[in-house]
Amino acid sequence: MTRTLEAAEKMGIPFKAQEKFIDPDRCKMGCDWCMLGCPEGARWTTREYVDEAVAYGADLLHSTKVEKVILTDNKSRVLGVGLADGSIIRGDNIILAAGGIGSPALLLRSGIKRLGSQDVGTNFSMDPMNIILGFSKDSDGGMWGVQTFTHAIESLADSEGFLIGNCAALGTYMVNSSFRLNSALKTWYRGPIIKRGIGLFVKLSDEPHGVIQANEKTNKPFTELDNKRMDKGTDISKEILISAGADPSSFSILKWAGGHPGGTIAMGKAVNKDFSTEVQGLYVCDGSLMPVSPGVPPSLSIDGMSKLLGKILSGQVKAEQRFVKKKGKRATAAVIIQ
Ligand code: SF4
Repeated sequence: MTRTLEAAEKMGIPFKAQEKFIDPDRCKMGCDWCMLGCPEGARWTTREYVDEAVAYGADLLHSTKVEKVILTDNKSRVLGVGLADGSIIRGDNIILAAGGIGSPALLLRSGIKRLGSQDVGTNFSMDPMNIILGFSKDSDGGMWGVQTFTHAIESLADSEGFLIGNCAALGTYMVNSSFRLNSALKTWYRGPIIKRGIGLFVKLSDEPHGVIQANEKTNKPFTELDNKRMDKGTDISKEILISAGADPSSFSILKWAGGHPGGTIAMGKAVNKDFSTEVQGLYVCDGSLMPVSPGVPPSLSIDGMSKLLGKILSGQVKAEQRFVKKKGKRATAAVIIQ
């Protein structure tokens, strides 16, 4: 890990330590299972809010698939949701939070093809990744026993449209040797030297050119600019890995792995600033709202948006009290709470 950090530093693109949703007192050194669930209960998840809501008396229905939103005949107001088993749960307010693929598909199955100025399910971006795995020439040069995505090169995000982060040996070996045949063929037989694995990922802020269908199938063509940026990020990553001691003949690349689906019911196009829509009682609050591909994990933003919607619905904040301050190419938003 240290060699990778030093290699990038020498290239003038230093890694920065990343903030994590982890309780350091419970996190186990040498573990890399974060993406598969935490055996120690050290990783915070938004599910804790669900437990809190249930403790306050909310009803939580497990394994209950919502098929569509039930609307009045003229589609001007919600009446409830229709479940896959044919039953209906009635409600005056429905908050769609099924994600950048699930939420637009639900609306399409409900007969809502357009909201505001957007065709539902269009404008699809997904923060795709290339995951590059190499193996160190030295027996002690791998990223064994470290966590994935503890560090990232953030300085290229605005200028080049991508982020580069570290991938530890165990997780990257498992991913690159299982998900796609192309990378699996170059990876699986290196199992005996797994501890020498050193990986990096390139996460792209992609152009919104995909579409979601009612059955949740996706169509996501990547543009010339997406390809150009991803190639550049991959080349830089290889250069860092080689400089950190990786054998270039050992590289495998898992290409265009999907990350964070979004943009498909975008705020400012389909959804208003207070998360409401032109359909009375219908709100949206998940990654679908992201107007553009963030190119970074959106979990903190979605968490913040959910809290904001809660405050708006309970009358603590009005949408007009929000202000947005432009900073470079990115915008920062804040809420004024009285
Ligand atoms: S590394 Fe991740 S999975 Fe492992 S104990 Fe820490 S938080 Fe949990």
